[in-house]
Amino acid sequence: MGDCLFCKILSGDIPTELEYESENIVAFRDINPQAPTHILIIPREHIATLNDVRKKHRSVLGEMQLAASKLAEKEKINIGGYRTVFNCNEDAGQSVFHIHLHLLGGRGFRWPPG
Ligand code: 5GP
Ligand code: ZN
Repeated sequence: MGDCLFCKILSGDIPTELEYESENIVAFRDINPQAPTHILIIPREHIATLNDVRKKHRSVLGEMQLAASKLAEKEKINIGGYRTVFNCNEDAGQSVFHIHLHLLGGRGFRWPPG
């Protein structure tokens, strides 16, 4: 969609090595990692925020979470533990308006998050 950074990654306009891809989703490493493992999992369909998710998106959201747990296993962070996060809008710090699931691991995290 238009100026969307992640749509540009999907189209190949911004060359990015993919960690995983399927018909519906892709995963790639975050350019500014906040943990030893920091992977972003995104739908191929442009969905701006979690507020735009509809019933028709149920399976793609499930696929994203399943990919996160598979990637966690591949990254060997599944036993130690990991965090998956969707940020929605300003208060949560969303900066790219194409939904993405952060997979973070390889270090300890605090709760509650800042
Ligand atoms: P948000 O803050 O919207 O939840 O997360 C957006 C994430 O996208 C940030 O962690 C940021 O580092 C990452 N990011 C921004 N631009 C790029 C890029 O061009 N390539 C990759 N791989 N990640 C990016
Ligand atoms: Zn997009």
